[in-house]
Amino acid sequence: MSTDLNLYITEETVDRGAEGPLAGETIAIKDNISTEGVRTTCGSEMLADYVPPYDATVVERALAAGATMVGKANMDEFGMGTTTETSAFGPTRNPADTDRVPGGSSGGSAAAVAAGAADLALGSDTGGSVRCPAAFCGVVGIKPTYGLVSRYGLVAYANSLEQIGPIASTVEDTAALLDAIAGPDERDATTRYDEIDEFDRHPAEATDYAAAADGDVDGMTIGIPTELFDGADERVVETVDHAIGSLESRGAETVEVSLPSVDHAVQAYYVIAMSEASSNLARFDGVRYGHSAGHDGNWNETFAETREAFGAEVKRRILLGTYALSEGYHDKYYKKAQDARAWVKQDFDAAFEEVDVLASPTMPVLPFELGESLEDPLQMYLADANTTPVNLANLPAISVPAGTADGLPVGLQFVGPRFGEETIIRAASAVED
Ligand code: GLN
Repeated sequence: MSTDLNLYITEETVDRGAEGPLAGETIAIKDNISTEGVRTTCGSEMLADYVPPYDATVVERALAAGATMVGKANMDEFGMGTTTETSAFGPTRNPADTDRVPGGSSGGSAAAVAAGAADLALGSDTGGSVRCPAAFCGVVGIKPTYGLVSRYGLVAYANSLEQIGPIASTVEDTAALLDAIAGPDERDATTRYDEIDEFDRHPAEATDYAAAADGDVDGMTIGIPTELFDGADERVVETVDHAIGSLESRGAETVEVSLPSVDHAVQAYYVIAMSEASSNLARFDGVRYGHSAGHDGNWNETFAETREAFGAEVKRRILLGTYALSEGYHDKYYKKAQDARAWVKQDFDAAFEEVDVLASPTMPVLPFELGESLEDPLQMYLADANTTPVNLANLPAISVPAGTADGLPVGLQFVGPRFGEETIIRAASAVED
């Protein structure tokens, strides 16, 4: 089954024999998360033969909690995509409908769980890459608050936006994997909120997110941001509305809220993500990592030729990101995008003065057919309208299956305040019951 769906770039089992809360569980690891001795390609020709000498912190923690790694999951090249079709190793297919994409960029991770090939999976979410494939494949995915989970060993795409996140078929299992990987790490300074008083809500101690999956939403106030429903496919809206209605019957209250600046979020996201990517991917120069065109000729030629190993989407983003950061254009694009990012954060802060959690469709569309969005990158970028604002604001969010429309999975997204993981897990677990 796994060959048909193209779930893994490398199928390899790693079992450290540890006893722990994840003992007996199999796990798929997205191929941009470093695994000692097991190649880590980022879905790119550039790193086709790269074997890391160390484990990412999340891998170390998941294996120490007893999980058995079963493979390195397919992904869009360097996490750049929404369909897993930009992978240099061919697309992954959606187990719910094999003519459709599994979403991306962590498509192999979500599809592995949906197909029953792995109990658990890790993905990374820069602008929706855990939540989108979770929604498209009908499984659960969490994008943690920025700084909750260590990024040590994650190959960077856009550092200020991304977090590694857990995927599983139930909210409780997803939360249990988050418990295993969360918490401060001395090798990632952005996880050290425990040392800064202002952020004393950071769970420096061991967490028990799994216990929050108790379905108890009685008295919870759920905000419905109208902007995140406008423009979504009617079938998606209907399915999501129905699921939210079921929470009302369990004692939750819903109120409409407005996040006016999220209309600019996806544009701001792409400027910031591409700018950070253009800088991060400069390290693939043929000298330090991975593929090299050789050292004949001058350095510029070697550099240019080496970078032919990037695929079209990655090249497009490096070019656009470099442009947005260049002298004369920096204020016009990058600085403006940073302003929009600040407004998006303010809108969320204001909303959380009124409500406990926000609910919306995870994706405004149903899973694309294979090949459908490849010709039109802008269309693909716009599909990230509901997920990217969350990354700009560094907030936690979960995607939980809301039901199906035309036989295809639909995801419901809950967004919480900073370090409000318990609340989103509780809300999502009530949908599932
Ligand atoms: N689809 C978004 C992008 O292409 C999100 C990717 C991600 O979260 N890694 O940038």
